[in-house]
Amino acid sequence: MAQFSDSLSHLNPSQRQAVEHVNGPLLVVAGAGSGKTRALTFRIANLVLSQRVDPENILAVTFTNKAAKEMKKRVEDLFAEQQSQSEFGKPLAALKEYEQTKLRSRIYKTITKDLWIGTFHSLCCRILRFDIEKYKDDSGRTWDKTFSIFDESDVMTIIKDIIINKLNLDEKKFEPRNIRYAISNAKNKAMSPAEVEQEQQNYRGRVIADVYTHYLNRLSENNALDFDDLILMPVKLFRQNEQVRAYWHKRFRHILVDEYQDTNRTQYDLLTMLTTNGKSPKQFDDWAHRSIFVVGDADQSIYSFRSADFTILMGFQQDFGDGREDADTESMVKLEENYRSTSNILELANTLIDNNTERIDKILKATRGEGERIYSYRADNEIDEAEFIVRQVETLLRRNPDLSYGKVAILYRTNAQSRVIEQVMVERQLPYRIVGGMRFYDRREIKDVLAYLRAIANPADTVSLLRVINTPKRKVGKTTVEALVRASLELGVPLWEILNDETSVKTLAGRSSKGVLAFAEVIKKYREQLTTMPASELAQGVLEDSGYLDDLKRQNTEEAENRFSNVQELYNAILQFEEENSGEDEDQSLVGFLAGAALASDMDDSSEDDNRISMMTLHASKGLEFPVVFLVGLEQGLFPSFRSLDDPSAIEEERRLCYVGITRAQERLFISHACERRLYGNREIATPSLFLDEMPENLLESNTVRSRAKRWETSDISKPAAPKTKRSMPQGSGITDWVVGEKAVHDSFGVGQVTHVFGTGKKMCLAVKFPTAGQKILDPKLVPLRKV
Ligand code: ATP
Ligand code: MG
Repeated sequence: MAQFSDSLSHLNPSQRQAVEHVNGPLLVVAGAGSGKTRALTFRIANLVLSQRVDPENILAVTFTNKAAKEMKKRVEDLFAEQQSQSEFGKPLAALKEYEQTKLRSRIYKTITKDLWIGTFHSLCCRILRFDIEKYKDDSGRTWDKTFSIFDESDVMTIIKDIIINKLNLDEKKFEPRNIRYAISNAKNKAMSPAEVEQEQQNYRGRVIADVYTHYLNRLSENNALDFDDLILMPVKLFRQNEQVRAYWHKRFRHILVDEYQDTNRTQYDLLTMLTTNGKSPKQFDDWAHRSIFVVGDADQSIYSFRSADFTILMGFQQDFGDGREDADTESMVKLEENYRSTSNILELANTLIDNNTERIDKILKATRGEGERIYSYRADNEIDEAEFIVRQVETLLRRNPDLSYGKVAILYRTNAQSRVIEQVMVERQLPYRIVGGMRFYDRREIKDVLAYLRAIANPADTVSLLRVINTPKRKVGKTTVEALVRASLELGVPLWEILNDETSVKTLAGRSSKGVLAFAEVIKKYREQLTTMPASELAQGVLEDSGYLDDLKRQNTEEAENRFSNVQELYNAILQFEEENSGEDEDQSLVGFLAGAALASDMDDSSEDDNRISMMTLHASKGLEFPVVFLVGLEQGLFPSFRSLDDPSAIEEERRLCYVGITRAQERLFISHACERRLYGNREIATPSLFLDEMPENLLESNTVRSRAKRWETSDISKPAAPKTKRSMPQGSGITDWVVGEKAVHDSFGVGQVTHVFGTGKKMCLAVKFPTAGQKILDPKLVPLRKV
């Protein structure tokens, strides 16, 4: 009977050593394309197939959901091959088709359910779905497991609202984006608002702390988390609650992490707590049945702007080294052969990265032939650069029948660079896709539909309710919405509680009541069926009843048609989700689907791999490989970026990014720069990147086109928008004779007690709590309300 060890013959001795490592800590460090990810994948299979580790005891962290998916697929293949050998005594390919399908679907179930492979975010989200109710933050805020995940645009809506409406601050002085950044930074350093204020003892510090406090309240009122919370919260929960921590520690006996160089402190804390159950790694002595296995390359650390810290990778051995005594192998493995690129490409990468001072030298030998020289193109301008790419692709494809569009990638430093290239591709009819561009889940109609679903799943999610209360148009204006929101804030109850009460809505919304009530009716109807109705049916129902689909159909424009088909695509995604989670104890609920949708990261492309040219930023290209790569825009101020120019360590990070770009190429690499470029509205003369000077000339072949000195007019930069005038709350002047605590009699609701008085004079209304009817908001001018 064939064993898994047969598959190990596809590995070199060092990879094999890594793959066969069982217990204790292990660090695999190696340059690009040396088979780190491959070793990690094989190790998962080895643990399960040869070591008989229960898949439930394995946790593997990848960098994108796409990588997770690919890894699951690779593990599935290895499992399928192995199972086929042991059950049928023959290789998978020799099985009948239906046998293959049956085997694969059984394995697929185990992989998706028991074996946890995913990004830090998706794995933390899974942990929180189990245990968030056991968590309480320093100020006593709590969440329940139907929590929503707010993305960047939801977060910005809240922050702006706090700055402008809540604190009445000038958004020019306190730029929402900067404040958001400061809050995120504070969160990642686990600092509370008070600590932020302490650190920055000035007015600005106080404002940030103030916005931060309101923001935290707002999240918890909405039963929502942001992306930072997803990782921070489990860490804090593990600190707070030993039982919870011990449970997950016991469960994940084997932890594997890819791209470890881009781990930040919080992620490191999470990994450490899971591995050593809160002990310092040095003191931990129970390595007999557990491991932590990390792979990475410090030269590819490119996320310092998200607090990634490659010294974590460099310190791994020191941190975990003591675990070696009862472990069965060395605590570090180096891989020194590159299987991806031709030796010319590899030498270019190695020479370039050698210019960095903050690094440990390492060996990376080519295993493939020399290949062709790297072609360096000097373009007149960005249009010429785009035309060069298109010409090259056409020629390459004509000459090499094996090559196809899907094997070509174009990598750039900033998203803005793609536009011109796209334009030329469209003109020449070359198929392409943008990896990590406008994500499917960021599109307006998709966010609308998700907002409906989130409002149904999570009653506290006011942000989602507000997004769709007047979408499609129901004649619910801004004033009405403000009145409803103000009432909920003043009463301290979720907005939904107000919307869900007909009387209150009629009082507050006046002529808009009809629209608000119709909306509330839909949400209510489906909320009642949340646990009984399949998510797909629920989605379909809500889209029809809310009038959303009809509205799109009525518009009858090409754009609306496009939106309609995107909504259909979302419906397909829900169906697919239900199919994939059709097992007995699996999460098929709407809540489960929504979590997945929120976590589809900006580097995941929803479309399947097909035969199109891939275009993406250098950051998004990490871990990938392509036979043909174009690396464009090698100009000072663009790549390396303007902001890095006078900061040596920032330049080093840009150089690492360049190293990542070069090492994506397998066979052919083209690099280019333009002599003039229009970027952000201005046409400017561009100087070639310093990285070009650092590349050995003998590896390069270049065009001799001299730049033609053309004069370009500088276009106007659009003028900044005029500052918004501050809105002031309406002020009444009349006198009201109702006070909180008074008794009031209503014809149908009976006797109640006034709990709140809104506004004054003509604008006054009351919140009255009735023993049976509950709290109602009433306008004493319109409804018969008497004093006792
Ligand atoms: P990166 O640093 O870019 O993430 P990596 O070290 O993770 O790269 P992999 O993606 O695992 O590298 O492998 C690079 C390529 O080399 C892949 O196509 C892989 O299949 C191939 N490869 C890895 N190991 C071997 C081997 N022992 N024999 C043949 N091919 C291999
Ligand atoms: Mg890799």
